[in-house]
Amino acid sequence: MGRQLLRLRAGSSWSSALLGQPRPGPARRPYASGVAQAAVDQSDSQPSEASTREKRANSVSKSFAVGMFKGQLTTDQVFPYPSVLNEDQTQFLKELVGPVTRFFEEVNDAAKNDMLERVEETTMQGLKELGAFGLQVPNELGGVGLCNTQYARLVEIVGMYDLGVGIVLGAHQSIGFKGILLFGTKAQKEKYLPKLASGETIAAFCLTEPSSGSDAASIRSSAVPSPCGKYYTLNGSKIWISNGGLADIFTVFAKTPVTDTATGAVKEKITAFVVERSFGGVTHGPPEKKMGIKASNTAEVYFDGVQVPAENVLGEVGGGFKVAMHILNNGRFGMAAALAGTMKGIIAKAVDHAANRTQFGEKIHNFGLIQEKLARMAMLQYVTESMAYMVSANMDQGSTDFQIEAAISKIFGSEAAWKVTDECIQIMGGMGFMKEPGVERVLRDLRIFRIFEGTNDILRLFVALQGCMDKGKELSGLGNALKNPFGNAGLLLGEAGKQLRRRAGLGSGLSLSGIVHQELSRSGELAVRALEQFATVVEAKLIKHKKDIINEQFLLQRLADSAIDLYAMVVVLSRASRSLSEGHPTAQHEKMLCDSWCIEAAARIRENMAALQSDPQQQELFRNFKSISKALVERGGVVTSNPLGF
Ligand SMILES: Cc1cc2nc3c(=O)[nH]c(=O)nc-3n(C[C@H](O)[C@H](O)[C@H](O)COP(=O)(O)OP(=O)(O)OC[C@H]3O[C@@H](n4cnc5c(N)ncnc54)[C@H](O)[C@@H]3O)c2cc1C
Repeated sequence: MGRQLLRLRAGSSWSSALLGQPRPGPARRPYASGVAQAAVDQSDSQPSEASTREKRANSVSKSFAVGMFKGQLTTDQVFPYPSVLNEDQTQFLKELVGPVTRFFEEVNDAAKNDMLERVEETTMQGLKELGAFGLQVPNELGGVGLCNTQYARLVEIVGMYDLGVGIVLGAHQSIGFKGILLFGTKAQKEKYLPKLASGETIAAFCLTEPSSGSDAASIRSSAVPSPCGKYYTLNGSKIWISNGGLADIFTVFAKTPVTDTATGAVKEKITAFVVERSFGGVTHGPPEKKMGIKASNTAEVYFDGVQVPAENVLGEVGGGFKVAMHILNNGRFGMAAALAGTMKGIIAKAVDHAANRTQFGEKIHNFGLIQEKLARMAMLQYVTESMAYMVSANMDQGSTDFQIEAAISKIFGSEAAWKVTDECIQIMGGMGFMKEPGVERVLRDLRIFRIFEGTNDILRLFVALQGCMDKGKELSGLGNALKNPFGNAGLLLGEAGKQLRRRAGLGSGLSLSGIVHQELSRSGELAVRALEQFATVVEAKLIKHKKDIINEQFLLQRLADSAIDLYAMVVVLSRASRSLSEGHPTAQHEKMLCDSWCIEAAARIRENMAALQSDPQQQELFRNFKSISKALVERGGVVTSNPLGF
């Protein structure tokens, strides 16, 4: 990712012009994070979008998240809370929700799937008949043809009832064949999608290798073109592939030699392929034994001299990295939607227990400690659900600038669901620890969501660095303007004035007044102040660290945490505003959820940003973390001896 950031800056005088520093030296790779690197790389490279990176750099982003790093209140994508479904789409979705819910209540047995460590055949068959294997495949190719928002609503139901089944379906369509939908040629779509949509064939996504996890760019699988140019010979092995043992169709990423037309130099670049098991040479290992999502099949997949026809290249030769990252970015809202459903189911169990369990002569829901837990659980669910449908709606509206928001929704949803489920177990006491109520299964199932499809740590780095990168471009523009102050007086007055005002604590003049509902104006104020504090620190840290900010992970993590809090504030402000304006029956409840979230999130941001600004102490803390960790690694574990001395 570091290299990518530097590359994206090529030709920009970002650090040097503004700060009088020398231009960066040759690109280093301080840490290699494939997911984040590529997410940065692909953010403007959708096939449907003919625009080049250059074009995007010059265009004004409509993303709230991009804006918040610059101290801008970009409301286009977030206010009002988007409603994207037309009447027909709403009606169609309503007709699907009932049968899908009934199917999960009456046919699927999550506990049995977990015990069998596979999805029961009746469920698989039933899901195929429901069309659940081709939810977003166009009608004319045999799918249900749902938009992202409709898809979100249905996966929410799956997430509520069975995350194991959710992974089978998600590995198939959210990542397994998503590449064909997004990047496939007409011929590839017509050949593969009908059978994939019906579930006659199952798909898997093959990126991870034993030596290549987060650093996806370092894969070793290779695909060598034949001298006749008709096929590639694919060799390599992939690990932990969901549906790996069931799939017939694989989206596989492998290194291919690519000749630079300008220099003639040959470089190894990643290319994506659609690989059929029937090509021969494709085998898999036994199902992995794992902590959760046991019903889903996870297996190693081996490719041994597989002859892949040249027409099965997905996207461009050498463009596979972008294909992979684009697929992952596109699916993140689905994870948030599924987990919003999981939380809904879990909260119902916690409430049921709290409302019926008597201790000390009282129903336990009357105790403040239980009330706080339930309220926080409801807030986390509300935020996740609001994010999921905000991102899906933005995508349906044709936004191409939602990568930071999508990453935030994945991080937030996976951590919120874990916390909510853990607290449910606490509310249920010993009963929560038992197998029978099924909450322990959900906790086990949930753990992987913070790890796969981009670990939350890597995604935090992505959120912070992508935001800083866009802010960096602005600083660069300001730097150029400073070289020619008379020609750029307007820019300088606007930008410099804004920055000076912010630094002097005078406020930026930003406001959500008239945008958020009047009853939420105080929370709107809190969000604006938080945005100003956040942007002030981002700017100060960029000026201090310049391009080396990519190595400041302690700082980046804190920036990401505040970015997540801030985006969460805005999505709930937007959703609750809409409910209040439209007089929804739950509007006052939503106002409480929103206000409570904003009060606490604003305080966290204030504290986080103040801590980052009190540099000496923070620096001491970060130095300590580094030294403590180093000592642990040198010692091979805890450094201190037992207080008894032995
Ligand atoms: C059940 C299951 C199903 C899966 N399904 C699929 C699938 O269908 N297809 C597929 O391709 N893959 C799949 N995976 C793989 C999954 O995507 C990877 O496990 C994930 O990308 C993380 O890679 P890793 O496990 O190698 O961890 P590593 O990349 O080795 O990371 C280990 C730790 O180091 C941290 N870390 C790494 N680099 C940095 C850095 N630069 N800075 C700071 N911290 C860093 C990570 O955040 C993590 O905490 C699956 C995994 C599991 C367990």
